[in-house]
Amino acid sequence: ATRPYDPDNIFAKILRGEIPNKTVYEDEWALAFHDINPAAPTHILVIPKGAYVSWDDFSARGSNEEIGGFVRAVGHVARALDLVAPGYRLLANVGGHAGQEVPHLHVHLFGGRPLGPMLA
Ligand code: 5GP
Repeated sequence: ATRPYDPDNIFAKILRGEIPNKTVYEDEWALAFHDINPAAPTHILVIPKGAYVSWDDFSARGSNEEIGGFVRAVGHVARALDLVAPGYRLLANVGGHAGQEVPHLHVHLFGGRPLGPMLA
């Protein structure tokens, strides 16, 4: 099983408004904000409002309502930023081999330039 959720992780603090962020979208299910260290011209992080460590945790414990709301929010952000026609990439790191740094589920949304091969 995944580790227990740490309510002091940096994205939990962002959700509580304790740390500032550049929000691009927020609804009942998700918050989307600019990555502090962007790897592409557009680099957004989309996080669920619930306390989930990772994609693994969310897919195992999240309600269908939360999961549906979150997935729709990710798609909404991409459309709102006009990324559908040029194209974009979604990525979620899970655990150590993937180098996950922040233990609150986040989906990276990259766009704004050709992104190259996946694992280059
Ligand atoms: P991971 O490696 O866990 O998939 O990605 C964590 C991401 O969070 C990194 O891209 C990193 O730049 C970003 N990040 C870390 N701390 C902060 C922060 O305080 N604010 C924002 N906006 N992004 C952060």
